[in-house]
Amino acid sequence: MVIPCYNEEEVLPETSKRLKEKLQSLIAAGKISVDSRIVFVNDGSKDRTWELIEELHNQDPIFQGIKLSRNKGHQNALFAGLMTVKDICDMAISMDADLQDDIDAIDGMIDSYHEGSEIVFGVRSARKTDTFFKRFTAEGYYHLMNKMGADIVFNHADFRLMDSRALDYLSDYSEVNLFLRGIVPMLGLKTDIVYYERSERFAGESKYPLFKMLQFAFEGITSLSTRPIRIISELGVFIFFVSVVVLIYSLVRYFTGHTIPGWTTTVLSVWAIGGLTMISLGVIGEYIGKIYLETKSRPRYFISEYLGDADTDVCLRDRQKR
Ligand code: UDP
Ligand code: MG
Repeated sequence: MVIPCYNEEEVLPETSKRLKEKLQSLIAAGKISVDSRIVFVNDGSKDRTWELIEELHNQDPIFQGIKLSRNKGHQNALFAGLMTVKDICDMAISMDADLQDDIDAIDGMIDSYHEGSEIVFGVRSARKTDTFFKRFTAEGYYHLMNKMGADIVFNHADFRLMDSRALDYLSDYSEVNLFLRGIVPMLGLKTDIVYYERSERFAGESKYPLFKMLQFAFEGITSLSTRPIRIISELGVFIFFVSVVVLIYSLVRYFTGHTIPGWTTTVLSVWAIGGLTMISLGVIGEYIGKIYLETKSRPRYFISEYLGDADTDVCLRDRQKR
């Protein structure tokens, strides 16, 4: 289990207790290895979070900790945790520290894993505990993202199971603007969904106040889609079209003598230049968009199976542990 934590001293004792119970019951049921671990990633917390993690680790080796040098944000903390464990686990489940995600959904995820799923998304079936505003904005956002061409799972946050192959694939994404819930569906592995009800934060405050949430939302769109740039071009073409209409209109006015001198050229140039400027901006934007995607140097494909000589198996990295 990988749990990013930022100033979570209030919830950590309870979270660690419940997670340990859950893991022990899963171990007793023979569903997971006796060597299973709970890894807390301390994302540069300013409170006693790291001291708590150290205490937990000293009491019971089932708890492990990773400390980031400074606060790098939820996504980077999670990524750091997953990349640290990827070579030593068969699967990793990521979850928030605040117990908003239902711990009991883990059973379903692990069952699905044993049935062959490589990625299991935890999806909120209800948003009863969210305020109307949060629900409205969040759900609207998922729709907007899909319209912008980003393939994200509706109402799924970062509560998910990934097996070692999924983690390995994920490690090839070297982008700085990390938006995990947009990238994971791109891996193209066998996925499944487990539904759960999201509850209230157990204690402490949300680390995502409105401003940070908006920032995160914008980050998501701009890191997955270049659609906004395309919209500028489209607007430019539209305005240029309007300028042609204005041209005809003002010529009619001119020839019927309803104008004062200079009006026609002024009106025309405003529209035409506006339209042309926007088209040019859009064209430049197109190239910037391409450069942007290029500089991300995303992996272009993954070889999931290879039929060839056993000793030239390019799939060596897909350790078939199962
Ligand atoms: N978190 C983090 N770094 C940050 C902000 C948040 O590691 O800079 C962690 C936080 O400890 C929690 C998870 O990310 O485990 C989700 O944060 P939160 O519950 O505050 O977000 P919300 O559920 O309100 O969207
Ligand atoms: Mg939360």
